[in-house]
Parts: sequence; structure tokens; C-alpha cells
Amino acid sequence: MGLLDGKRLLVTGVLTDSSIAFHVARFAQEQGATVVLSSFGRQMKITQAIARRLPSAPPLVELDVTSTENLAGLADAVREHVDGLDGVLHSIGFAPQGAFQFLTAPWEDVATAVHISAYSLKALAVATEPLMGPGSSIVGLTFDASKAWPVYDWMGVAKAAFESTARYLARDLGPKGIRVNLVAAGPIRTTAAKSIPGFQVFEESWGSKAPLGWDVNDPEPTARTCCGLLSDWFPATTGEIVHVDGGFHAIG
Ligand code: NAD
Repeated sequence: MGLLDGKRLLVTGVLTDSSIAFHVARFAQEQGATVVLSSFGRQMKITQAIARRLPSAPPLVELDVTSTENLAGLADAVREHVDGLDGVLHSIGFAPQGAFQFLTAPWEDVATAVHISAYSLKALAVATEPLMGPGSSIVGLTFDASKAWPVYDWMGVAKAAFESTARYLARDLGPKGIRVNLVAAGPIRTTAAKSIPGFQVFEESWGSKAPLGWDVNDPEPTARTCCGLLSDWFPATTGEIVHVDGGFHAIG
């Protein structure tokens, strides 16, 4: 019996086969879930091609989290493939290059980072809520925003807003039986990570400080934990942030 037998999941954020979301989709299918993917704009074609590398190619719906039209039509688009949702993975992040210069970043760049990387969790939750019910689970990906990092800058501030958004969603969706949790992953070499100037400073230090060690090329521990939170095995957990970082956060 699979961990996610019979579960219907919407997985956002598959761009390449290095995307964290790709590995969540793969594990989820291996564990018995039915998966629907979302992508947007010109990336739709790439996602469609990459999706063929999954155990079975899932259907794809369009979702640009900044598009009110896409958000308004999301539930109906998903309903064409599944009759409800037991889980939603938010695996979306973006900041313009200017947002990675803390003292000089213009508001427009910061606003884009916060819109796509933080507010989008609320937007996605509200758009999919009509498909969810008691026992459903929303899971997102963060990079521990309780600290100021050597790089990350306004993306770090956006992640702090993202983490707070998850707690408010947990408050408002809890009475409907819907859980909202985040996974704080260590650095993983993906397209989003490679676009962060100076990302290699994390790669160099993480493995030596983390008690369990850390492999920046291995998204599997993160993906497995996301699947755990999407399953029925955390029934009384919401508003939580689970660190999947080799134990890095616990060491001074
Ligand atoms: P990725 O580049 O593979 O995924 C980022 C995704 O965001 C892409 O699929 C992209 O299409 C999507 N996206 C960007 N703008 C969007 C928009 N307007 N509408 C809809 N989707 C949009 O990189 P990843 O590392 O797998 O990132 C997934 C999540 O994991 C992000 O939230 C990221 O911040 C988080 N995270 C990554 C790391 C890391 O080191 N890679 C560590 C901790 C957390």
C-alpha cells in the first residue's frame, strides 16, 4: 500500500527534472497519488516535455500566480482531470536580479518577489479551496527566513512573508480541516537556486556544518518530506515549518 494511495494532488512548480516539485510528483505517483501539474506561459511547453519523464505523464493546467484570470479559472481547470483535491504543493519562487542587492533594490523588484513568492500561497490556497475538504493538505517550500543570509536579500524577506502567510492560512483554513505546512529545505541546485547571485556560498558551507551532511544535488529528502506532509500521517500538524537541511539550523 502506498503512502498516498487514492490522493489527488495539484503540484505546481515543475520546470526541469531538477525542480523540487518534479521529485515530489515522482514520489507521489510512486506512492499511489493521481497528480495534476501546473505551469505557465512559455514554460508550459518545457513542463509538458519534462512531465513525460514521470512514471506516468500527468495532465497540465495553466497557472501564472500573478494572473487573476488563471486563478479564477483554476478550480474548473483542475476539475476537468480530478473531482477534488487532497493536496496542493506550492513550489513557486521568483525574484528579479535587482532584489538580490539589499540596500539598492527598487520597490518594483521587491513587490514582484513578494507577489510571486509569498502572496501566491494565499492566492493558490483560495483558488483551490473549493476543491478541498477535511483532511486536505497544502505544502510549500521555504528557505529558513528566521535569519539574514550572506546572499538572498529581498527573497529572504519574501520568504519571511511566505512563512507568515502559511501561519495565517493555517488559522483560517484549520476550521475547514485543511492543513498548511512548509518544508524549509537546505540549498538544492535548481534553476531558481542558480539564478541567485552567490548561491555557491551555501553550497560550500552547508555540508560541513549539517550534522547529517548535505548533498546540494539531491532533492529527494525534501521531496519525501513534502509527500509525508501531503499524506494522512500528520493529521494534527498545521502552521508548522519542518526543516529538511541535514540539521544545519540546529547548530551554532
Ligand atoms: P525551480 O526553478 O525548479 O522552481 C521554481 C518554480 O517557480 C518554476 O517551476 C517556475 O515556473 C515557478 N514560477 C515562477 N514564477 C511563477 C509564476 N508567476 N506563476 C507560477 N509559477 C511560477 O526551483 P526550485 O528550487 O525547485 O524552487 C521551488 C521552491 O523551493 C521555491 O519556492 C524555492 O524558493 C524553494 N526552495 C528552494 C531551495 C533551493 O535551494 N533550490 C531551497 C529552499 C526552498
